[in-house]
Formats: sequence, C-alpha cells, structure tokens
Amino acid sequence: MEKDFGGITLNPEEKKMGIKGSSTRQVFFNDCKVPVENMLSERQNGFKIAVNILNIGRIKLAGAALGGAKATVDVSVKYANERNQFGKPISAFGAIRQKLADQATYCYVVESATYRCSQDMEHAIEALEAAGADHAKALLKGVEQYAAEAAILKVAGSECLDYVCDEGVQIYGGMGYSAESPVERAYRDSRINRIFEGTNEINRMLTVDMLLKRAMKGQLDLMGPAMQVAQELMGIPDMPEPDDSLLGDEKRMVANFKKAVLMVAGGAAQKLGLELAKHQETLMHIADMVIDTYLAESTLLRTLKLAEMKGAANVAEQIAMCQLYIHDAADRIHKYAKEAVNNFAEGDEQRAMLMGAKRFTKASNLNTAELRKLIAKKMIGEGKYCY
Ligand SMILES: Cc1cc2nc3c(=O)[nH]c(=O)nc-3n(C[C@H](O)[C@H](O)[C@H](O)COP(=O)(O)OP(=O)(O)OC[C@H]3O[C@@H](n4cnc5c(N)ncnc54)[C@H](O)[C@@H]3O)c2cc1C
Repeated sequence: MEKDFGGITLNPEEKKMGIKGSSTRQVFFNDCKVPVENMLSERQNGFKIAVNILNIGRIKLAGAALGGAKATVDVSVKYANERNQFGKPISAFGAIRQKLADQATYCYVVESATYRCSQDMEHAIEALEAAGADHAKALLKGVEQYAAEAAILKVAGSECLDYVCDEGVQIYGGMGYSAESPVERAYRDSRINRIFEGTNEINRMLTVDMLLKRAMKGQLDLMGPAMQVAQELMGIPDMPEPDDSLLGDEKRMVANFKKAVLMVAGGAAQKLGLELAKHQETLMHIADMVIDTYLAESTLLRTLKLAEMKGAANVAEQIAMCQLYIHDAADRIHKYAKEAVNNFAEGDEQRAMLMGAKRFTKASNLNTAELRKLIAKKMIGEGKYCY
C-alpha cells in the first residue's frame, strides 16, 4: 500500500524510550483500495503470510539482538581495560571479570542456537526445493517447520541482549548512567526486543503450544519418550559408567534435561489435557525448561564440533563457556521443574516427579571462578568479544 492510495491515515510519531532512529506511529486503514497487482496472494491468505513473516522475524530478531549484545560486550571489555580504580584496570577485579565472562557466555550460547536453527531451516528449504516445491513455498514451509525454535530464539536473543546491556551499564559504573556512554543507549534500545514480534510471554506459550501440536499431528514423538521416562522413574536409578570423553558429563546432563522436560510436559499434558493452556504459570516453567535445554544442547553440539575441527586445546574457552552454561542451566531447570510439578501433581506422583526433577538435573561440581577467569582473560587480552 502506498500512502496516496487513499484511506490510510497515520497517528503522530510516538515519543519512545529507545530506538529513536526508528519511526513508530499507528497506521489506520479505512476502505483502502488495493490494486490487484499489489496482492501478495489470494484473498484470505493474509493472516497466514503475516504469521509466517513472524517466524522469520523472530529468528532475525535473535540475530540482530546477538549483534547488539556482542557490540555491547566489546565496549564493556574496552571500558573495563581503560578504567582504573585502586591503581589497576577494573578488568583485573574478579567481580568485573565474572561479568565479562557471563556476558560472553550468554552471547556464545545464543549464537550457537541461532546457527543451529538457521542451518536447520536452510536444510529444510533445500529438501523441499529438491522435492519440487518452488522457492517461495519452500521458504515458507521450511521456516514454518522450525517455528517453535524461532520463538525460543526470539526469547533467548532478547533476554541475552537485556542481560548484556544491564551488565554493560554496571561495568561502566556512573558513566553507564550518562547519556554520553554507548551503554546508556544500548540499555534503552534493548528493552523493546522483549515486547515486539510477540511479547516473550506469548512466545513462551507458543513454544509449548507448537511442540504439543507437533506431537498431536504425529510429527514429533513426545508421548513415547515421556512414557519411557515415567517408567524409568519407577525403577531403581541406574548408575551410568562415567563418560571420560570431552564434555562427557555435559552430554549426560543435556540428555537428562530432555528427560526432565518430557517428564514435566508429559505429566502436565496427561493431568490437565486441553486445560493446560489455562495454566499459564506452569506453561511458563515448561517453556523455560525447553528454552534452556535447546540452548544447552546447541552449545554442546557446537563446542564438540569446534573441538573436533580445531583441537580441544585450541577451544578451551568455548569448552569452559559450554560447561558454565550447562551447569547453570541444571539449577534453573531443577527450579522450573519443581515449581511446575508442585502446581499440578499431588501425593506419590508428586513425590516421584520431584525425585525425577532432582535426578535429571544432577550436576557435578565445578570451579566456576577458574572457568570465568579463563573466558574473560582472552577477551581482556584482545580488548573485545572474541568467540
Ligand atoms: C517500538 C514499537 C514498534 C512496533 N512495531 C510494530 C510493527 O512494525 N508492526 C506491528 O504490527 N506492531 C508493532 N508494534 C506493536 C507490538 O508488536 C506490540 O506492542 C506487542 O505485540 C505487544 O502488544 P501490546 O502492546 O498490545 O501489549 P498487550 O497485548 O497489551 O500486552 C501487555 C502485557 O500482557 C501480556 N499478555 C497479553 N496477552 C496475554 C495473554 N493472552 N496471556 C498472557 N499474557 C498476555 C503481554 O505479554 C504483556 O506483558 C510495535 C510496538 C512498539 C513499541
């Protein structure tokens, strides 16, 4: 539609918290005539097109947020190296090093999941084209197959950016609150990403809803593995042989996170059926478990691949980030699982599931201070995000 086609009116520009370089105003369409050659598709197809655009928009938002997050880590490292307090650069203090390491880890994790999902989408599009679909159809269908992952990425990317910007302001101290600093603008600009392209609450609900729908259509076997996990819970826990391969512990943990998701999502679906949609508190916990598990697995797969390509000794920092994230995720997943189970289960079933939640999120002990030191050291040396 062009402005002069008639029937289009615009409200004045909105005064916003951030992204001030972007125009935002309400657009009203009243009895607009759309020239036939401007139709994107048949009548009545608009909603489908809009929904598919949202899928693409969500993964793109993750990519854009990631770019902003990495740029914010760059300025955070640079400032931490330049700012001296108590006779040394603040990057020499453990409290600041820890922030830099956590900022970098979040970026590395979200990037791993973004690469994974983008590649999966590309493979799906190529397969559809090879099967005879034209490019436009293959693009729509290929992206649609990964709509749940796109929603996960939208949430993860926007929350990574908010976290990184918030810590960026903290690293800058008082300067971070000044409009002169780049992190002040980043902090304001970041905030919208959790709101548009579907708020993060809506995207969390969509993630679970889409997974359950895929299961109901027979495209994803959720109930089979969920029953297996339920049976495993009844038996005596087996003691797996320790896996001495690279990130062996983390491989076991990610496999167990999936069991935790299946246990809680399967239990909730069985207990609440279609009513589950009305139990949003529980849905939010399940979504958070799914998101953490997807990010953890993506990071593990990428790190193992990197180690295979470059040698483990050359990717020590990436291995440390992978360990750090997966061990942190274990605690979070345990909390989400516990709260969700307590929301819908009672008696023996509740006790068994709470035991399962503990068993499936068991983590070995790690010296996280050493891992964070290693991750931060390389960035401090190079003066930027370097992963
Ligand atoms: C800067 C900017 C640019 C924008 N650009 C565009 C654009 O280009 N095109 C466009 O179409 N739109 C655009 N939007 C609109 C944007 O997509 C919406 O603001 C956003 O989707 C949230 O909708 P809402 O503002 O109506 O919030 P509401 O729907 O009122 O939500 C308020 C709160 O309630 C929660 N909530 C709402 N419904 C539910 C529910 N069913 N269950 C649980 N919680 C719920 C939300 O998560 C949120 O926390 C833009 C908005 C802004 C601020």
